[in-house]
Amino acid sequence: MKKAVVALGGNAISSTGKENIHEQFANTRKSLEGIVELIQEGYKLAITHGNGPQVGNALLRVERTKNDIPALPLGIIVADTEGGMGYMIEQSLQNKLMTMGINRDVVTIVTQVTVDPNDPSIINPTKYVGPFYTKKQSEILAQLFNWIIKEDSGRGYRRVVPSPKPRRIVNRRTIQLLVDHDTIVIAAGGGGIPVYTENDGTYEGVDAVVDKDHASAVLAHDIDAQTLLFLTDVDNAYINYKKSDQQALRNINVVEAKQYLNEGHFPPGNMGPKIEAAISFLTSGGQEVIITSLNKAQQAILGDAGTKIVKK
Ligand code: ADP
Ligand code: MG
Repeated sequence: MKKAVVALGGNAISSTGKENIHEQFANTRKSLEGIVELIQEGYKLAITHGNGPQVGNALLRVERTKNDIPALPLGIIVADTEGGMGYMIEQSLQNKLMTMGINRDVVTIVTQVTVDPNDPSIINPTKYVGPFYTKKQSEILAQLFNWIIKEDSGRGYRRVVPSPKPRRIVNRRTIQLLVDHDTIVIAAGGGGIPVYTENDGTYEGVDAVVDKDHASAVLAHDIDAQTLLFLTDVDNAYINYKKSDQQALRNINVVEAKQYLNEGHFPPGNMGPKIEAAISFLTSGGQEVIITSLNKAQQAILGDAGTKIVKK
């Protein structure tokens, strides 16, 4: 039984945040072509997706409507994007499977993810979200919303939020049950809604976001998938990326992945989390991780494209 988690990169639906819903649906339909091929190969599937531009837009709405309606915390914004983006992916995939005569249900689950309430990133947030501001604007917003705002590498001022490490998927048993029974489940969108457990076992939300690559690895582990597939906007992970001696990685193991990571080949804002997530999935029972572009998904599964990382 082949079971995979497919993590759709941010560009699968909206890369700039400026695309209207019609354009986002068109992008989604295009992005799903590779996934349909996996379904035809007989994979049981869960699908995750990024939500960076959508969270940015939601925060802009919060700021622009501050005098009219109550502000939304990040947990609600993530839940909203899980629903809205999940709907786009779900319906696009349902329609595609229908026209191909493939009888598989598709469902979206608004997913909570547990985190450590003492995660270091909660005390010292470093994840940039939302629009850029001038120094003056940022001081007003920080005061008004109690936001922490920092300078983002000389590009302007931006809100920073905690991004604690995901531990477990709250609805993992339900997701696994559905996936094992051939339902395609869209889960942990945008990394999921971060929650922690109180001493009495009840859940409480955290005003934070979770990295979607790490959440995808936790989901893959929690539903006992063998394969974790990152579909992004590059065909491979590279060493010496964008340098004259750039080299596409084809087949590597965890030891090599760790070495390249330590040598600084994979930056923390983009390829780094995928490699870290790959390492943690493979060292906790996963069999293979594939990193490739949306249109190389099937080729990569067959071993003819992409970067494949295995344990040994
Ligand atoms: P996603 O939305 O799929 O998570 P990211 O932008 O976070 O996409 O990560 C993919 C990006 O990582 C690529 O567009 C590429 O520019 C960047 N990148 C940085 N270092 C590397 C590397 N060593 N190999 C491949 N891509 C890299
Ligand atoms: Mg990313």
